[in-house]
Amino acid sequence: MDKIIYLDNAATTKTAPQVVEAMLPYFSEKYGNASSIYQLGAESKQALTKARDIIAESLHADPAEIYFTAGGSEADNWALIAAAEGYEAKGKHIITSKIEHHAILHTCQYLEKKGYEITYIDTDENGIIKLEDLKTAIRQDTILISVMFANNEIGTVQPIAEIGEIAKENGILFHTDAVQAYGHVPINVETLHIDMLSASGHKFNGPKGVGFLYIRKGVKVRSFIHGGAQERHRRAGTENVPGIVGLGAAAQLALAQMKKRMENVSRLRDYLIGRIEKEIPHCRLNGDRIKRLPNNVNFSFRFIEGESLLIMLDMKGICASSGSACTSGSLDPSHVLLAIGLEHEIAHGSLRLTLSEENTMEEIDYVVDAIKEVVNRLRQMSPLYEDFVKTEQK
Ligand SMILES: *Cc1c(COP(=O)(O)O)cnc(C)c1O
Repeated sequence: MDKIIYLDNAATTKTAPQVVEAMLPYFSEKYGNASSIYQLGAESKQALTKARDIIAESLHADPAEIYFTAGGSEADNWALIAAAEGYEAKGKHIITSKIEHHAILHTCQYLEKKGYEITYIDTDENGIIKLEDLKTAIRQDTILISVMFANNEIGTVQPIAEIGEIAKENGILFHTDAVQAYGHVPINVETLHIDMLSASGHKFNGPKGVGFLYIRKGVKVRSFIHGGAQERHRRAGTENVPGIVGLGAAAQLALAQMKKRMENVSRLRDYLIGRIEKEIPHCRLNGDRIKRLPNNVNFSFRFIEGESLLIMLDMKGICASSGSACTSGSLDPSHVLLAIGLEHEIAHGSLRLTLSEENTMEEIDYVVDAIKEVVNRLRQMSPLYEDFVKTEQK
């Protein structure tokens, strides 16, 4: 196979051709500033309104509750900082989980420096947060619970309805980082009692650098970017009209195809998981087998280094990802893999494959054969594996 097999859709997705097509006129002939009153500006404004309506409807929210941002990280930063500042009179305690994205964790660290107290809830060995721990963590001065909808590394889908219920009963705001979930699984902010929700275009076949934050009416919202009157005075700056048009088009497409995609992609996922478990010894599926995103596969292979695996897969045209140290730019393996209780050595040998509708069964077969061969080859070179085999033979 000389074409690329792309299995890193949790890192980013291909912008759908229909989305690019919808965006193009807003770079060229329809370049008006949406704040201008002449026709050219009004056309941009209408395009923003349409995108906002599509997204609001997809969540069962009101268009006035959608704020466009420059992606998921900005939405996460905004949600946490706005809640912290808006509700500090009530308290300075925030609850989150140990497996959040760095956009949440590093914002929490920033808030800790500003005098906020953060409780980081544990997960079980499958990466589902412990609801009992959440309940006991709640205090008089707790102002916010922020738990991700679905995890970007191990694909676990959290008990969002239960968390929303707990937050509501206790009069605490509930934010969810839904960057991996939005456009992939159904989300209803009403039934799930979500007060704030972050999403990002490039994770669901939209463009990079654009996303949104849903903020329920009645929640105190502080401005995040100061300047002009855009986004109801909360997020200044001339709107990214082509990006927002693309975001809306991607949301519409994702929604229309969600059911079919969930079925097709989860079938590929389960086939991939089944073959790896059957054919490669000493591996572990990370994340929950059932409560899992339709497109996520994450394995640890003992006695190997994730980055060696990635490099050798790349030579075979396969794009994948790992939770091992080098890829994260630090010495420690992924905080998510450590939080679910993996030993360092095992976490280092992890591989994340995140699929899309475009992958085929033929590709999956090719990928499993490639992983088998590479894992075998790396183990043959591993002193740890050699020791292991010797002790096995005794
Ligand atoms: C990708 C991702 C983000 C960051 O989104 P950007 O648009 O890349 O800033 C935040 N949270 C999760 C769970 C993600 O997967």
